[in-house]
Amino acid sequence: MIQRIGVIGAGQMGSGIAHVCALSGFEVKLSDIDGDALANAVAGIDRNLERQVAKGKVAETERQATMARITTGSDLAMFGDCDLVIEAATENEEVKRSIFKALVPHLNPDALVATNTSSISITRLAACTDRPHKFMGMHFMNPVPVMQLVELIRGIATDEDTFRAVRDLTAALGKTAAVAEDFPAFIVNRILLPMINEAVYTLYEGVGSVEAIDTAMRLGANHPMGPLELADFIGLDTCLAIMNVLYEGLADSKYRPCPLLVKYVEAGWVGRKCGRGFYDYSKNPPVPTR
Ligand code: NAD
Repeated sequence: MIQRIGVIGAGQMGSGIAHVCALSGFEVKLSDIDGDALANAVAGIDRNLERQVAKGKVAETERQATMARITTGSDLAMFGDCDLVIEAATENEEVKRSIFKALVPHLNPDALVATNTSSISITRLAACTDRPHKFMGMHFMNPVPVMQLVELIRGIATDEDTFRAVRDLTAALGKTAAVAEDFPAFIVNRILLPMINEAVYTLYEGVGSVEAIDTAMRLGANHPMGPLELADFIGLDTCLAIMNVLYEGLADSKYRPCPLLVKYVEAGWVGRKCGRGFYDYSKNPPVPTR
């Protein structure tokens, strides 16, 4: 029975995961190596809960109880009494591997481990823990409190009890699961990221401006957000990391990351989370940067 959930990484995704888990009644422990990220996460969760209160979706007492269920820290030993730890740190295999190696000695032998990776092999990440049979991919969507889907990915060693426990947790969080096999980027990002990368190529080759590309896909394909706006929302560093996993993992040139995407990441223009990407978010409304 899962009661206490640890979340590692308090960025956009980790804070969203902590929010929905705490709101559903689970005790949550949230950690990050960056103290500012942790403070911003707690303030952000509170703000988002206030918004849900204002919309009448959450009662004020529920907001307070949710915040009281979240504790933060930076020492991995705090996860010692967790039934499940969900890793949601930066999309970088080396970062994730070193987190898992440092984490497992602190865990209860029965604890499950999940990763929110968007693209990296679950089997490979599981193999650097002492419990590949208790390891799963649990891929939430952004923003977590709003998006309905969680992709569930078994590694080659994941056992049925682990899968069932994570599937039941997904339902308890009010989310819908889609099961994907452990192939690069799974289902959602295998389809979504090549489209975003193609939108960046469309911009790079001068087929259209940022505004034209996003308007075309919003009104022409009925997408709620244009692909470049969506790329900024995901984070251009994350988009590039996913394209690289697809390119290397599937060894097909059709997944080659667009050089313009690489250039934006090299410039540190990683999208909404830093204030600049394909749009400049210091302006209201945001202004295209090309
Ligand atoms: P982010 O950049 O907003 O946050 C990443 C956080 O990880 C940062 O706060 C950073 O300080 C922290 N971190 C880095 N190294 C760490 C370490 N060693 N220990 C603890 N914390 C560490 O990124 P994000 O968008 O929240 O993405 C996190 C994960 O979720 C990635 O694997 C990403 O692929 C996945 N994901 C992202 C999205 C999306 O739309 N952004 C959607 C689904 C899944």
